[in-house]
Amino acid sequence: MSFKLHIETRRLNLAHTWTIARNSSDYKDNVFVALEKEGITGLGEAAPNVRYNETAALTTEHIRSVEDFLAGYDFFHYENLINGLRERITGQNCAVAALDMALMDWLGKALKAPLYKIWGLNPADAPSTSYSIGIDSPEQMQQRVRERQDMEIFKIKLGKENDREIIRAIREVTARPIRVDANEGWKDKHLALEQIEWLAGQNVQYVEQPMPAGQHEDMVWLKQRSPLPLFADEALHTGSDIPRIADGYHGINIKLMKSMGLVEARRMIHTARALDMQVMLGCMVESSLGISAGVHLSPLVDHVDLDGHMLLANDPFRGLSLQKGRVVPANAPGLGVETVK
Ligand SMILES: [Mg+2]
Repeated sequence: MSFKLHIETRRLNLAHTWTIARNSSDYKDNVFVALEKEGITGLGEAAPNVRYNETAALTTEHIRSVEDFLAGYDFFHYENLINGLRERITGQNCAVAALDMALMDWLGKALKAPLYKIWGLNPADAPSTSYSIGIDSPEQMQQRVRERQDMEIFKIKLGKENDREIIRAIREVTARPIRVDANEGWKDKHLALEQIEWLAGQNVQYVEQPMPAGQHEDMVWLKQRSPLPLFADEALHTGSDIPRIADGYHGINIKLMKSMGLVEARRMIHTARALDMQVMLGCMVESSLGISAGVHLSPLVDHVDLDGHMLLANDPFRGLSLQKGRVVPANAPGLGVETVK
């Protein structure tokens, strides 16, 4: 039985400089994997994130280190295979995510069905995605919103000094619902509460990671007072983090790069539901390949923020479409994406 593992780093250029509360970038170096077994190739993507000490070089090294383990495993036994990957790869969650994704793509191609069908999901049940507006001058942020009148919800990045000025500017150009992501930018709980109370009058759905992940006691205080639902992003990676943070947030933002892929992401959805928490499915800056994996899972969640591929100037993959604000996968085997020639 032949087995091949191909790993490649590709630079994804952002259409506009991408700025959030803690940093700014013009491109991302993501790692792409192709797992070939029995004549079928599964594709996956890792988006290393500096916030979690991930790099393309370390991700590549970790993926390469499990080559023999993968070669000897039956890919249909993916539950245990992915558990084994999680034991062998530590500290680079996105590396496991890329392999999990490639295995799910391989599975769908082997069974000749889209992943959502294998999982019994209907893409029409997925919520509309939000479209993220990175931090910039209020005028530029207004322009980004004007350019995407096809989007039903906007996610506005905040966490600097002029948050209210930004929201006022956005409200001049759209009445659509917005959600806010402070990316840990508000360091003081009283400031965070003041901002959230003001935002509650601005047709804001919810606020993501208002305070630093490490300030959990402040989040408990804030949750008891916040007029808007609060969602954890930087404060969690996998399912075992959820019970620990449940008293500080109303919901969680699952990202495949943090969760180490789809298998764990599905488990997290059930854990969150058991704790009466809402579920959002987000992403990093990823191509259509990485985003497609989330899209197959999206019928199971309350809120979707799967827009990473829309922020790119050079998406190396295609297969997703936007239908009435919803990101829809192709009706094709596996993840349903193909390389742009
Ligand atoms: Mg976030």
